[in-house]
Amino acid sequence: MMTKEHSPAFLSIDKWKSEFPSLVAAFSTKNGGVSQGSFRSLNVGLHVNDMDESVIRNREILSEACSSNLSQWVFADQVHGSAIKRTGHFDRGKGTLSYQEALPETDGLWTMERNVFLSLCFADCVPIYFVEPQTQFIGIAHAGWKGTVQNIAGRMINEAIEAGVAIGQIQAFIGPSIGDCCYVVDDIVIQEVKNCLSEMFHSSFSKQSKGQYTLDLKAVNEQLLLNAGLAKEQIAISSYCTSCEESLFFSHRKDKGKTGRMAAVIGWKE
Ligand SMILES: [Zn+2]
Repeated sequence: MMTKEHSPAFLSIDKWKSEFPSLVAAFSTKNGGVSQGSFRSLNVGLHVNDMDESVIRNREILSEACSSNLSQWVFADQVHGSAIKRTGHFDRGKGTLSYQEALPETDGLWTMERNVFLSLCFADCVPIYFVEPQTQFIGIAHAGWKGTVQNIAGRMINEAIEAGVAIGQIQAFIGPSIGDCCYVVDDIVIQEVKNCLSEMFHSSFSKQSKGQYTLDLKAVNEQLLLNAGLAKEQIAISSYCTSCEESLFFSHRKDKGKTGRMAAVIGWKE
């Protein structure tokens, strides 16, 4: 479903690549960059105590590999919330060279403009990509468990509808994230998951021991997209687990917090 590109390694969504040749929809790996130590090597997070010069160089490497220029990218200050912002040319370059200039307290971005590359940082949380070709609506959302239970996925669909997008034409892609093979949570999280989903759908988690559950955050987000009105055929899901695939990804859980970040990016090329 996602395949590795040539150097530097990043993943792109196969189906969209053939269907929308001018769309860039990519998820970076940890390979092909210049960072050292825990951030080796393609860390794109400016907020994780890596050297800024290395992160910026990594972002340049990635943006060039994605047939774009870093000055066309937009980054956000992600806070595990559900705020979504419409962006465009006026925001290009924000947060690319300095974390302070990223769009404040934002976990979802969308636009209908070309040559604006929406980017968010990940290390286990769920990236959700959106595209609707008629209006050229594109969006990206950051859904850890907090953003997930605040229904950032459904909120993005609502914003698209309000912007005039036909819901039946939207395609969503749930990208690489920590899988239920590796993601263990407690009762507090499970209660929030139960609250955000309808009663009949609780197969996204399973009890392992007292107060310990494995949770499939991709499945929860899929259900939230279905609840928001998407049909199953409009949603595709990556099978990659960021914790299992240690040769490809940084993992916040596996690396015990001291690690780099991957970027999820979406944008229309010239
Ligand atoms: Zn796993």
